[in-house]
Amino acid sequence: MENCIDLEAGVKIKAGLGYDLHRLVPGRKLIIGGVSLPSETGCLAHSDGDVLVHSLIDALLGAGGLGDIGQRFPDSDPAYKDIPSLELLRRVMIEVRAAGLTVINTDSVVILEKPRLGPFFQPMRANLAPLLGIEPAHIGLKAKTGEGLGEIGSGQAVACWTVALLGYGG
Ligand code: MG
Repeated sequence: MENCIDLEAGVKIKAGLGYDLHRLVPGRKLIIGGVSLPSETGCLAHSDGDVLVHSLIDALLGAGGLGDIGQRFPDSDPAYKDIPSLELLRRVMIEVRAAGLTVINTDSVVILEKPRLGPFFQPMRANLAPLLGIEPAHIGLKAKTGEGLGEIGSGQAVACWTVALLGYGG
């Protein structure tokens, strides 16, 4: 596979895990993976509340030993009010590269009752791939519902888990 790393060449790998959850409220846009989705509710957040990008950022920072999104972009700082999360990702990737790390692949699960996300995966990958410096095919995106259970199942929240694999050295 094209993006598989050659461990015998001395490349080392680091994995990172990210998680995010936002409350869904009327009168806000629902933005996931940088795509504005058709929805009567959106994320209550200081930034644009993009759970996919926030979990991705925490996975990248975690793999790089670079802290977490709350330390980097505190929600008490007015500079980050309504900021597009893709811009936060762009800034994080500058740090990731400066630490000598390259992204190999990422894999995310978004948990949301509606709308169905599958039709929007392609534009989400198109937003994320150039920032991560990987092919869209190396960005795993999956959607789950809450099966009607709990806060996610009743449409009051959206959550996302992301794993990122980074390489360095070699
Ligand atoms: Mg968040």
